[in-house]
Amino acid sequence: MAANRRTSLLSSWFPEATQPLVVAGPCSAESEKQVLAIAKSLKEISQVSLFRAGVWKPRTRPGSFEGVGEVALGWLQSVKRETGLPTAVEVANAHHVEASLKAGMDALWIGARTTVNPFFVQEIAESLRGVDIPVFVKNPIHPELGLWLGAIERLSQVGVEKILAVHRGFFSTQAAPFRNDPKWELSFDLRAEAPNIPILADPSHIAGDRNLIQEVAQTALDLNLDGLMIETHNDPDRALSDAAQQVTPESLQSILTHLEVKREEVSDAKLVSVIEDIRSRIDALDESLLSQLAQRNELVAEMAKIKESGKMTIFQLNRWFQLVDDRRKWGDKLKLDNSLVHDVFQVIHKHSVGLQTQLNKEK
Ligand code: PEP
Ligand code: MN
Repeated sequence: MAANRRTSLLSSWFPEATQPLVVAGPCSAESEKQVLAIAKSLKEISQVSLFRAGVWKPRTRPGSFEGVGEVALGWLQSVKRETGLPTAVEVANAHHVEASLKAGMDALWIGARTTVNPFFVQEIAESLRGVDIPVFVKNPIHPELGLWLGAIERLSQVGVEKILAVHRGFFSTQAAPFRNDPKWELSFDLRAEAPNIPILADPSHIAGDRNLIQEVAQTALDLNLDGLMIETHNDPDRALSDAAQQVTPESLQSILTHLEVKREEVSDAKLVSVIEDIRSRIDALDESLLSQLAQRNELVAEMAKIKESGKMTIFQLNRWFQLVDDRRKWGDKLKLDNSLVHDVFQVIHKHSVGLQTQLNKEK
């Protein structure tokens, strides 16, 4: 299979790893016995290349389990010694980095609650100057590409070369059925800005529910992401953090076995030609959509003048309600998804109001 740049980077950074890269382990290290039991089971799963466990846990509110701290680094050393699995921990400040490096951790990750804070990211970056270790950068809690890219740049500026991103979804009041809204388009945006940064998905934190992990993981691979981080616990229901979203090693094995790995490009000439044909028909439709939008704008401009001459407001609530309602009905007849129709006309209407405002200002 033709390797893309990210595939070759991953195989040079993790020579023992299979791809897509799979990182697994508990949300939190709870005891030496627990991490060893999980790691021994994960060692049997050939696709798992890296063992994760949170040592310092950034919790949204105080009072919940905040990790056992530095003592767990010793437990992770036992994991590595007894299973040979490389280990990764979350770091949120320079002290965490120093302790993790001293303990010989193989990889680090920056959590979503840290990526939002450039002071902490810079502090972490400074403490990694001249250190050769892979660093995973989770997306910030809210969907701001700049913070995600900024964290990657801060690491890159101090010379960290092995940088990976982790898409763990975004806080939203409308995330349901998931804990965090995937907003996969943010991964596309990141990829467009930083095409050589491998991106893993974290279906556990996106889903927040172990029953949805398979589906989210498959979507991630269908979208051409490069790996998965999946929280795995030997007794998930009794986990001290993120219980609902952790799977047993047996379930992880089943999830990984059922995943279908897709390819970005194919060489089958027949398939390529069918794809090209469909794409050219889609292109033609998009061009005609744009020409219809241009015609619509002409009418909007005419309307702006008329409203101005009649001293009417640009925005009329009743017209907006009617517009939404009609388009929903027309969309229903065409079996179009309600949210597609709604989103498209939100954007069209926003620009229509913007255009009318601008034209009236110019006159
Ligand atoms: C975690 O990986 O356990 C974690 C705290 O994740 P996030 O930073 O994505 O919330
Ligand atoms: Mn977690």
